[in-house]
Amino acid sequence: MPTSPLEATTRHVLAIDIGGTKLAAGIVSDTGALIDTDRTPTHADEGPEKVVERILDLSRSLLRRNVVPVARVGVGCGGPLDTTLGVIQNPPNLPGWIDFPLVRHLHDALKLPVVLDNDANAAALAEYHFGAGRGTRHMVYLTLSTGIGSGLILNGELYRGKHGNAGELGHLQVKYDGETCNCGGRGCLEHYASGTNIARRARELAARHPESLLARSAASLHDITAQSVLMALQAGDAVAWDLWNDTLDLLAAGVASIVHTFDPERIVIGGGVSNFGPLLFDGLRERVQQRSMPALMGGVEIRPAEFADNVGVFGAAAIALHEPQEVLA
Ligand SMILES: [Zn+2]
Repeated sequence: MPTSPLEATTRHVLAIDIGGTKLAAGIVSDTGALIDTDRTPTHADEGPEKVVERILDLSRSLLRRNVVPVARVGVGCGGPLDTTLGVIQNPPNLPGWIDFPLVRHLHDALKLPVVLDNDANAAALAEYHFGAGRGTRHMVYLTLSTGIGSGLILNGELYRGKHGNAGELGHLQVKYDGETCNCGGRGCLEHYASGTNIARRARELAARHPESLLARSAASLHDITAQSVLMALQAGDAVAWDLWNDTLDLLAAGVASIVHTFDPERIVIGGGVSNFGPLLFDGLRERVQQRSMPALMGGVEIRPAEFADNVGVFGAAAIALHEPQEVLA
């Protein structure tokens, strides 16, 4: 049965971020101070047992060199996963992790309570407790990265839905007759506006406009990335601007729907595409304003996330510090 969130005393947690290419861990205090951190490659292809060994090596080394009382372990990992059972259910970035009882393995080895959640929820909690969402009770987090991930903080709590999968806002359908998305839906926001898909659309556009700066921004069409789009925008390339204005319209359609559904105080946006800076945030604010009911949009702030590469470790810490823990029988 769940216990209450960790009491706020001067305690520390061990935070573990499991990514497809790297494992990161850290010791974090209950005020959100990062005491120490370390990372190592995941080598996910070697299978879950080997990866667990590497997680344990990383964890034990941090615990050895930081003599502080550690009360709990928080783990953030790509989903799908079952937070109640503590099981990883075959995420695309961790091949072979089929119904793998990660929490059981870590709990038995470290002799500490272990709390698990998916990486998007972890990032949302990191921003909510320690970053750009501080001081709110209603916050939506979006990460515009390889895909579009999100987390919902409603009434001061992470909202998970019935199965723990709530907040798949990357799959808001912003074009009812749009292209098929890899989730099986059509016209999903992620299919157009994630970093990977902005790059894909840029390559398609550059192939049709070989004279554009966008097409000439990389050695070959294959090498065009979202960063190439940013450079072409800054140089005033009309083809890149067409792509970007279309992307902002699609994002605004999604964000306006989020505003109308949740009436949030703040929308926090992270991920690689947030590096577009004012080109993203100013353009998006203006368009969302135009598309939203004034009574709802009036008080909504759209802000950049405060954490970058280290969001996973702070997210895992926030899970351990603030989320209820399932006790293993
Ligand atoms: Zn989709």
